[in-house]
Amino acid sequence: MGRSMSGKDKKFAENKVCMSSFDACMQQFNAAADLLDLDADIRSTLCKPDREIAVEVMFRRDDGSLDSLTGYRVQHNNVCGPFKGGIRFHPEVDLDEVRALAALMTWKTALVGVPFGGAKGGIAFDPSEYSHGELERISRRFFREIDPDVGPHRDIPAPDMNTNEQVMAWFMDEYEQRHGHAPAVVTGKPVELGGSLGRAAATGRGVAIITRETAQHFGVDLSGASVVIQGFGNVGSYAADVLYQMGAKIIAVSDVHGGIHNAGGFTIPELIDYVKERGSVVGYPHAESIENADLLTLPCDFLIPAALGGVINESNVDELQCRFVIEGANAPTTPAAAEKLWDKKIRVAPDILANAGGVTVSYFEWVQNLQQLNWTEDQVNKMLEKKLVAAFNRVVALHEKKNVSLRMAAYMVGIKIVAKAFMLRGA
Ligand code: NAD
Repeated sequence: MGRSMSGKDKKFAENKVCMSSFDACMQQFNAAADLLDLDADIRSTLCKPDREIAVEVMFRRDDGSLDSLTGYRVQHNNVCGPFKGGIRFHPEVDLDEVRALAALMTWKTALVGVPFGGAKGGIAFDPSEYSHGELERISRRFFREIDPDVGPHRDIPAPDMNTNEQVMAWFMDEYEQRHGHAPAVVTGKPVELGGSLGRAAATGRGVAIITRETAQHFGVDLSGASVVIQGFGNVGSYAADVLYQMGAKIIAVSDVHGGIHNAGGFTIPELIDYVKERGSVVGYPHAESIENADLLTLPCDFLIPAALGGVINESNVDELQCRFVIEGANAPTTPAAAEKLWDKKIRVAPDILANAGGVTVSYFEWVQNLQQLNWTEDQVNKMLEKKLVAAFNRVVALHEKKNVSLRMAAYMVGIKIVAKAFMLRGA
């Protein structure tokens, strides 16, 4: 299905980001570094990625012609462990965005206490315009191109926007043809190939856990609380499902094709079945349609952006009517909008905390692969819960002690751990 945007959504998208993604990320890093009184040498090292890789991804189209795309892998920092981060297929992928997302991974893995560094990758194209066979050839060629720089103890990719367990299976197979059995080279694989039970749902489950902890901490009853979710892919749909099971009322959801709204709340398992069959939330019965731009400004308790970056920005922040933002997506809030939200007393559970469930269970998958073990879904979910609640408590304690936003507190926790590891290693 092609991507379609209404006039209002187009205007909204054009207004979206006025600052480069990496500059926005560094503005937040510098603010946290100031609060930590971080040593200038360490600060300048952590500002720069360790390695940036750009590759030409040549592949054959179904009609026999040769085509090529540009792919990236940015390895931001590995003082705490091998580089770790997802790979996204999206037309808006560029080096600047990948660089920013890689840095976020460094703070995220440190914050939740998994022994990884930070990386990110992507290919700039719209996968909906390519056949299954073309996607397989693109994925395999990309992984072949970055082969010297990945490995179970070097750099471990995972799924992100528009990539999934099938893409991870192709990556793993491509790598193993050169290096032998090595399932730990990627996470988010199919369970049949060494993937972990609970990994597919992990990011969304984590978003739901952080929503629940936020509700509890700030004295909101989650049962019956209204939730709006932008994006109904891996993160958004699992977050909706787990929050629905927790008793929350999901009143609006959207995907790239459009949004739907029902003030009474959706029966999420039915909506998920509908999306599996039709490929979109659009047209779901007993709902009125809503544009993505309007969905973000609906009155609700919890707004969960779970699609693109920069969607909460100066053009719409004044209109937001939620009580809390739980960042399922990476970098959905620009720094200027984040400041306004703080002034408006809308509390934000930041991306590096709210969506850290994915990398946490990726770590569990990696450990199971290295030890050739298989844990039950219940074991995985319990360990995930423990790690995320511990990270939430650390962030909230610092937020209260220093009177800083939850984002600043989360950055401070993550950056402090990475800076300490850097100092201990020496240069
Ligand atoms: P996905 O491809 O599975 O789903 C993305 C969803 O967003 C789809 O429903 C898509 O239709 C929708 N979407 C795309 N453009 C949109 C637009 N303009 N308006 C509204 N909806 C739009 O991707 P995902 O894995 O769910 O990732 C979503 C976000 O979460 C990304 O920012 C990603 O970096 C972040 N994230 C993902 C994981 C993970 O484990 N998958 C982990 C951490 C963070």
